[in-house]
Amino acid sequence: MSVRVIARIRPLLKHELDKDSIVTAESSTDGDCKGRPTIVRLPNPKNPAESFSFQFNSVFEQDATQQEIFDAEISPTVKHLFNGFDLSIFAHGCTGTGKTHTMRGGKALADRGVIPRLLSAIFRRCKKIEKDSSGATQVTVRLEYFEIYCERVYDLFEPPEKRTPSGLPIRDNNRKTVVVGLTEKPCATLKDFEQLYDQANINRSTSATKLNAHSSRSHAVLGVKVTQTTETTIRVSRASCIDLAGSEDNRRTDNSTERLKESNAINSSLFTLANCVDAINSKAPRIPYRESKLTRILSLGQNGGRTIMILNLAPTRAYHLDTVSSLSFASRTK
Ligand code: ADP
Ligand code: MG
Repeated sequence: MSVRVIARIRPLLKHELDKDSIVTAESSTDGDCKGRPTIVRLPNPKNPAESFSFQFNSVFEQDATQQEIFDAEISPTVKHLFNGFDLSIFAHGCTGTGKTHTMRGGKALADRGVIPRLLSAIFRRCKKIEKDSSGATQVTVRLEYFEIYCERVYDLFEPPEKRTPSGLPIRDNNRKTVVVGLTEKPCATLKDFEQLYDQANINRSTSATKLNAHSSRSHAVLGVKVTQTTETTIRVSRASCIDLAGSEDNRRTDNSTERLKESNAINSSLFTLANCVDAINSKAPRIPYRESKLTRILSLGQNGGRTIMILNLAPTRAYHLDTVSSLSFASRTK
C-alpha cells in the first residue's frame, strides 16, 4: 500500500493580484496522468535561468475546486474505510498556502473542504448500510479532535481552561496507541458534526492565544471512528484528517527560545512523517512511526491503512525558498 502524494497550488489572493505566479504545473510525458498534471515546476532561487521540477501522483492547479479534489482523491477511499481500513489525510505546507482551506474550507457549500465532505459521505454510507441490511448492521460515528503542540497532546473538545499544561499521556493498548483521557463525541448528523467541530476550532484558537502561540504551530488531528456492528461482528476503523503545523522555517525570522522550541518540535515530527511515508513507499521492512507522537497515534502505515498527503503551495515569490523546501520534502516521499 503506497502513500499518494498530491500537490495543490492555490490561486493568487486579492492582495497578490499584481504578483507573478512562479509555480506552475505540467503534464508528464509518461502517459500516467489521467489528464491531470503530475509535475510542479519553479525557478531555482539561486539561478533564475534554471528551473526545478518535482513529480507527484497528481497536481491540482490554481483553478481546482474543493469538489474536484474531493471527488478525485478522497471519495474513492471511503469504501476502504467501511471495509475496515484506516485512512489518513494530511495537509502539508507553509502557513498561508491553503492547508486549512483544503481541509476545513469555507462556510459556503462550494467552499467546504475535505473534512465536511468526508463526513457527509460517511453519513450517507452509514444510512445506506443500515437500510440495505434492514437494520441488521448498525453504524455509529464518533469523533475525537486534538492538537499536538511541541509533542504534547491537547483535547480540542475540552475548553482551554481545563487543559493540563503537560498534555494527555499516550499509551500502547493491545498493539494500538491510544491517547488516555481523550473525549469521544458521538455524532449522528452533519449538523452535529458542524456544531462540535466549530466549537472545537474556537477552543483551538483561544488556547493558542493564551499560550502566546499561533495555531499554525500545532498539528490538528480530527479522528472519525466508524463502528459497524452486527449480531456477531464488530468492525472499527478510523479516518484521520490532519491539518499539519506550518512547515516554514521560523528560525530565519524569529529565534526567540519559545519559537525555537516550537520549530524544533515541528521539524522533528515532520521529518519523522516524511521518513514514514518514505518507508511505506519504498516497502521498507520497518516504518519508524513510533518516533513522533503524531505518527505513533495514527499507527501510520500499519494494518493496511491508506494515506494521502496533500502538499499545499502558494504561487508567489514571497514563498520561494519555503516552497522549494516543501517540494523537496514531498517529492522525497513520492
Ligand atoms: P494555511 O492553513 O496553510 O495557513 P489557509 O488555508 O489559511 O492557509 O489559506 C490562506 C489564505 O488563502 C486564506 O485566506 C484562504 O482563504 C486562502 N486560500 C487558500 N487556498 C485557497 C483556494 N484554493 N482558493 C481560494 N482561496 C484560498
Ligand atoms: Mg491553517
